[in-house]
Amino acid sequence: MRLDGRVEDPRHIAGPVEACVHCGFCLTTCPTYRVLGREMDSPRGRIVLVKGVFEGTVPMEDAIPHLDACLGCLACVTACPSGVRYDQLLTAFRHASRGARSRPVAKRLRRRALLETLPHPRRLRASARLGQAARPARRLAPALVRPMLDLLPAPDGQAGPLPEVTPPVGPRRARVALLSGCVQQVFTPEVNAATLRVLALNGVEVVVPAAQGCCGALALHLGELDAARDQARANLAAFPTDVDAVISNAAGCGSALREYGDLFETADEAADAAEAAAFAARAVDISVFLDRLGIVPPPDLVEPSRVAYHDACHLAHAQRVVEPPRRLLAQIGGLELLEVPDGEICCGSAGTYNIEHPAIAGALGEAKASSIMGVRPDVLALGNVGCLVQIRAHLEKRGTPIPVLHTVEVLDRAYRGVPLPR
Ligand code: SF4
Ligand code: SF4
Repeated sequence: MRLDGRVEDPRHIAGPVEACVHCGFCLTTCPTYRVLGREMDSPRGRIVLVKGVFEGTVPMEDAIPHLDACLGCLACVTACPSGVRYDQLLTAFRHASRGARSRPVAKRLRRRALLETLPHPRRLRASARLGQAARPARRLAPALVRPMLDLLPAPDGQAGPLPEVTPPVGPRRARVALLSGCVQQVFTPEVNAATLRVLALNGVEVVVPAAQGCCGALALHLGELDAARDQARANLAAFPTDVDAVISNAAGCGSALREYGDLFETADEAADAAEAAAFAARAVDISVFLDRLGIVPPPDLVEPSRVAYHDACHLAHAQRVVEPPRRLLAQIGGLELLEVPDGEICCGSAGTYNIEHPAIAGALGEAKASSIMGVRPDVLALGNVGCLVQIRAHLEKRGTPIPVLHTVEVLDRAYRGVPLPR
């Protein structure tokens, strides 16, 4: 949906504020309301707080802790019968409050450090190695750093650069460009490798632009919209326009790509705006692309497997992608597809949330691990690297290391005749 002003324009707050009828239907789907049980940590309460801030009746510093505690999972947007665009309100507030001095200095420094590290794969790889080495001395680390040490997986040192062009197997059915993802290429590069194989096997030529950069999701999450625009401009220049789709295999990144069209709205940005809108229209999650294309029927699994599917918030709520990954998995013979109870509730990953709010994220991670364990799957499938890291860590913590794979890895194993792990 195009907006009639910049996304950070406080006027965007008026729409959600006026549309909210305070019915409370969104409350039970709000993870922070479930954990904290306070109205001010629910979507309805946050809407009232933000209204007060922009009307001058609530000090910004009073609202910040409650808005910072919001995961941005957008379950409230999906649940709201009145169509309230809480996402617009959140974006405007995050931008307005981004430099607020009421946040402790240490937290502001941590945000800066995250912005300077996560979108840069080389720096991220080096930091992850350092973090792994420092883990035995975790207790000596400052409290603000410990959540990162707890969650940080080992970087995959085997990963090399992706080929710039992967030819299709057989006649070409489509040509796409792939976003390789900053966090993904460091921690789960095998997802990109599986994506290339599955696309090629389905007759798709894949271009991986060497000059691509971060999608801007982290900057958007932290309200740094100028940084997000710079990253979007770099990708607009790096990606070819003569492709059928721009593919993402990480829900958070895909969601950011699909927001490019809303980032450029002023008169002097008209050229960027047209290009960004066209780019956003081409951006699509790998599951949606394969579902629309129609896949080569995968052979039956070598060994039957019970696979539970986890809905990443930035697929199910932000992009409304629910059925395509399930339809793909359902085509694999010998695969029993299971649903995770409370599937609409966030796992607590939410970008950098599990680093910034470890207590709430930990409670949500534990609850998600319990829900998954309750259906006793052999494997958990999902479509987002952030959820993968968070859920894997919490399943391991519970002593139940159920393997967690990307949907495309499950397909890839079926095509290659490799059994799913147990
Ligand atoms: S469901 Fe929608 S209208 Fe009802 S309280 Fe929540 S945001 Fe407001
Ligand atoms: S985005 Fe998620 S955490 Fe934030 S208010 Fe909505 S449901 Fe709650």
